[in-house]
Amino acid sequence: PGKLEGKVCVCTASAQGIGKAVALAFAREGAQVIATDINEEKLKELAAESSNITVQVLDVTKSDAVKAFAEKIDKVDVLFNCAGFVHNGSILETSEEQYDFSFDLNVKSVYRMCTQFIPKMRSAKKGSIVSISSVASSIKGAPNRCIYGATKAAIIGMSKAMASDFIKDGIRVNCVCPGTIFTPSLDSRIRDLPDYDEAIKGFMARQPIASDEASYVTGQEFVVDGGWSM
Ligand code: NAD
Repeated sequence: PGKLEGKVCVCTASAQGIGKAVALAFAREGAQVIATDINEEKLKELAAESSNITVQVLDVTKSDAVKAFAEKIDKVDVLFNCAGFVHNGSILETSEEQYDFSFDLNVKSVYRMCTQFIPKMRSAKKGSIVSISSVASSIKGAPNRCIYGATKAAIIGMSKAMASDFIKDGIRVNCVCPGTIFTPSLDSRIRDLPDYDEAIKGFMARQPIASDEASYVTGQEFVVDGGWSM
């Protein structure tokens, strides 16, 4: 049996990229996956890839839609928050509108999903919340990622606080902080640059190693200590 047999996993922004890969991985491990996104076309393609996956259009910037979505789901074991937008620029190149948009999509979406699903996990006395942050956050200052980094640091802060608030209810809250992952949105950001091949070389050069699945991870400290250091 898979590691997630019998579990229900709710995923946001899962029609492509990291979210899609995670939804498929959950399904391969035997979970019933409810994959959501705003891209209906790509969601349909995802649904066709696994009988363990059902899909639903959900815009995580819409509080009422998130509420209505959550009302239809009684049991949830895993909430996976993946929605995020990469704003490019220093603080001086960030308008108030761009600031608000990034915080709304990247951070408040996590608030919206968690406030709806934590009560369900609480009644079940168990649950796991995993949100996608980034190395560009409180971990590392990346050039031209000022507001993006601020939103991703906020996700880490919010996750640690939730972990501490709900540990007694059997709910675990963690973040994954990826480095550079080749996804459709990264590809289109690179295509916006003057020289695609040069830019790809630049992205490759900033990685200390090139990957076979697990070999992407090296020299990292993963704290798995039952919450002692949080
Ligand atoms: P992507 O940009 O390729 O895909 C994003 C998905 O989000 C799309 O399917 C899009 O339709 C969906 N989406 C956009 N607005 C939405 C909304 N309002 N509601 C619901 N869904 C919405 O994504 P990716 O590159 O795989 O990134 C996924 C997450 O991982 C993001 O939070 C990103 O910041 C983070 N991340 C990515 C990288 C990377 O290198 N790719 C690195 C670190 C962190």
